[in-house]
Amino acid sequence: MKKLISIIFFIPGIVLGADLSSLKEIARKWDSQPHYSKTKATYIKEDADFEDQIPLTLVILKGSGWTSKEVLSKLKRTQEIFAQCKISLFPVLLIKTKNANGHVVNYDYHDFPDTVLADYELENTPALSKPVVYFLSKEEDNRYGAGVSWPPIHPWGKADPQIRNSVLLYRSKALRAKNNTSLSETKPGFYEVLAHELAHILFDEPHLKSEGHIMSTPTKVRTNNIKPYQCQRARDFFL
Ligand SMILES: [Zn+2]
Repeated sequence: MKKLISIIFFIPGIVLGADLSSLKEIARKWDSQPHYSKTKATYIKEDADFEDQIPLTLVILKGSGWTSKEVLSKLKRTQEIFAQCKISLFPVLLIKTKNANGHVVNYDYHDFPDTVLADYELENTPALSKPVVYFLSKEEDNRYGAGVSWPPIHPWGKADPQIRNSVLLYRSKALRAKNNTSLSETKPGFYEVLAHELAHILFDEPHLKSEGHIMSTPTKVRTNNIKPYQCQRARDFFL
C-alpha cells in the first residue's frame, strides 16, 4: 500500500490528537535539560496500514548532517519491512534538537555506558516514548558500525532503563548502499540498518547464525526478511 508521509507543523487540534501546545510542551521538556536546546517537536502524519501499532520517537541532532528527507525515507523503508509482521511503526514523533556536546559520539562499545551517557545525557533524555532512535554523525572510524542498539536482552539494556530500547544511528555508514535498502531489494548482505537496530529491540534478540533474515550474522548473509516467530516476539513484547 502506498503511504503518504508528510510533516505537520502548524495545524492545531488535528495532529494525531495532540495539539500544537502539547508539541510545544514536549519541546520545552527537551530544552529544560542541561544539554539540549532549540528543540522542535512534530508528529509525522501518515495512514497506519495495520491495527497493530508500535510508536517511535526519532531524534535528529542538529549539526549531524541528517536531513528530514533522509530520516523519513529510512523510516518509510523500515515501516515497509515491518509490514511483513502486519505491524505499523506509528505514530512517529520527530524531535530536532541541538546537543551541547555536538553531533559526534566517540565511545568504546565495551566501555559503555559511561561515555555515551556522559556525551548525550541520555539518562536525562526526555524521550516520552520508546523505542527512540538518535540520528548522529560520527568521525569516520572503521571500528564502529552503522548503528548500535540496547534491547532489554543486552546486559546494559537490562541494567540501564535510561538506555534500554534506544538506538544510535551514524549517518555516513547508515547511508551506505548495503545499509540503506528496501524490502523489494532483499538480497544477502544488503539490509536496512534502521530496521535491523529496531529489530534487536522489538524482538529482544541478538545476532543469529542462520541465513537470510534481519538478525543474521555475519552481515553478508543478512537480509530484510523477518521470520514469523520474530513478528510474534515483537507482538509479545510491544503490543
Ligand atoms: Zn546488530
